[in-house]
Amino acid sequence: MFGRGGQQKKSDNSRFYEILGVTKDATQEDLKKAYKKAAIKNHPDKGGDPEKFKEIAQAYEVLSDPEKREIYDQYGEEALKEGMGGSGPTIDPFDIFSSFFGGGGSSRGRRERRGEDVVHPLKVSLEDLYLGTTKKLSLSRNVICSKCNGKGSKSGASMKCSGCQGIGMKVTVRHLGPSMIQQMQHVCNECKGTGETIDEKDRCLQCKGEKVVPEKKVLEVFVEKGMQNGQKITFPGAADEAPDTVTGDVVFVIQQKEHPKFKRKGENLFYEHTLSLTEALCGFQFVLTHLDGRQLLIKSNPGEVVKPDSFKAIDDEGMPVHQRPFMKGKLYIHFMVEFPDSLSSDQVKALEAILPPPRTSSQFTDMELDECEETTLHDVNIEEEMRRKHQQPQRGEAYEEDGDDSGHGGAQRVQCAQQ
Ligand SMILES: [Zn+2]
Ligand SMILES: [Zn+2]
Repeated sequence: MFGRGGQQKKSDNSRFYEILGVTKDATQEDLKKAYKKAAIKNHPDKGGDPEKFKEIAQAYEVLSDPEKREIYDQYGEEALKEGMGGSGPTIDPFDIFSSFFGGGGSSRGRRERRGEDVVHPLKVSLEDLYLGTTKKLSLSRNVICSKCNGKGSKSGASMKCSGCQGIGMKVTVRHLGPSMIQQMQHVCNECKGTGETIDEKDRCLQCKGEKVVPEKKVLEVFVEKGMQNGQKITFPGAADEAPDTVTGDVVFVIQQKEHPKFKRKGENLFYEHTLSLTEALCGFQFVLTHLDGRQLLIKSNPGEVVKPDSFKAIDDEGMPVHQRPFMKGKLYIHFMVEFPDSLSSDQVKALEAILPPPRTSSQFTDMELDECEETTLHDVNIEEEMRRKHQQPQRGEAYEEDGDDSGHGGAQRVQCAQQ
């Protein structure tokens, strides 16, 4: 009776069919009838065995889904468990029962879909992330129509969609070959997956049968001190409402704006400051306006020399740590030193008199110098040259390719570039 003519050994891909009491070639209609009969008979509310009831729901849940049914038919129950992370199908038999019977016979709610989350980027300045702020944002969203309570009709009645027989999904079968078919399930286009249609004359005047109406809503977004770029602020259930759907969340994702002066790395701030050569050698002081408007006096220690491209740090003047606002990171000052472009011979003499003498390794006798070849140093824009080099990593290759139109022209161009 089960399996195909009993030739096949009773493997673990026939149990679900046995539970529902149908053959392996049962149609969706057969399955539905069989499930209905078995579920009513075994419902715990009517004294049935809860385990048996659960098994029936599980069997129906798998076999009514063409994709799962195919996996089950080919590989059995174990394969379905593997596909679900080893935990087995996590189903609520009462949900299936009530979705089948429209909520009747069970105290539990209908099986609900979850609406989509709406994600918005939220641009926030570094000042706002330092101090914390509240932003009011106006959003438009769909809410359940208050006039018809999301029924879409004046009378509260609706008709079963003829396109999908009220299931909300349509299954199309494609014949791929003599013994191969492909089943595809998709949302019914006639009812948009709701499974019902509303008579034109009965449509709710407020929502015009759409069941939802647009609404403007102002959300207050609390940007807390120390929040990071990419951090999410979630408003649960603030997205579009729809009938029989758990409303999704509105999610704001913080996008930290570039700051002209400060750079942020986690809890630390970086600030670039340029000193003149005199300041670097003889000492400096300057005023730094912090993100909260405080004026910090920054000064060198007496006799201290600041080297170009060096860093110094001030503790507790970085960013506040999120949710621990009394803890702050460091403020790093990155020092640049501006050198004079040239010096007069008098200036050179004066400097030579006070600065440390040249390194002994750079002192040569005239005879040693006569042995050397003369060279000329010229200015380069090293960044530009490196960039060009990276764009054309293989000059030889470029030369060959350029040679397509006139072989010599390419060679000349390379020569020019190298001059
Ligand atoms: Zn439909
Ligand atoms: Zn309405």
